[in-house]
Amino acid sequence: MSMYVAPVAKLIDEFEKLPGIGHKTAQRLAFHILNMPAEKAIGFAKAIVEAKRTVKYCSVCGDLTDIDPCRVCGSDKRDRSVICVVENPRDVVAMEKVREYNGLYHVLHGVISPMEGIGPNDINIKSLIKRISEAEISEVILATNPDVEGEATAMYLAKLIKPMGVRTTRIAHGLPVGGDLEYADEVTLLKSLEGRREI
Ligand SMILES: [Zn+2]
Repeated sequence: MSMYVAPVAKLIDEFEKLPGIGHKTAQRLAFHILNMPAEKAIGFAKAIVEAKRTVKYCSVCGDLTDIDPCRVCGSDKRDRSVICVVENPRDVVAMEKVREYNGLYHVLHGVISPMEGIGPNDINIKSLIKRISEAEISEVILATNPDVEGEATAMYLAKLIKPMGVRTTRIAHGLPVGGDLEYADEVTLLKSLEGRREI
């Protein structure tokens, strides 16, 4: 039985569903919202509704976008012969900070993880293979994270892509093993991109 009135308990409950938010933090956030001026709280709620309403996945690369195809896929200034494969949309943001990279992306939305019951069909692989077979692609850069699942996913993809006659590379281990692409600084990320090797 919650000690809070129903709307407060509900708000705490919703915050607690977010990743990395425990009960105490959920309480703190809920009370922060309740202490906000009404228009600020409404602005926050509206931002959630607006983002959910307008943001979708690009039908080509799977990245988050408000237009389809996304700005990268639709650009004529990008090198359309290179695809960089990443785990999630946050990795695209990280790669875009490395201004050296001018190719396209493909977002997997996860990695293969037998431990968690995630197989190749559960992530965005099919559309990647379709893209490679239908366009003139000269290189696929596998930029999944350097942890166990990321490596296994890269190996799996390499086995699929190499027989298609496309150069397949893996970003170098300038990144700390077990590290996350999205938290790497730009210099480290640029080095790992430059040092990529064929697999
Ligand atoms: Zn796209």
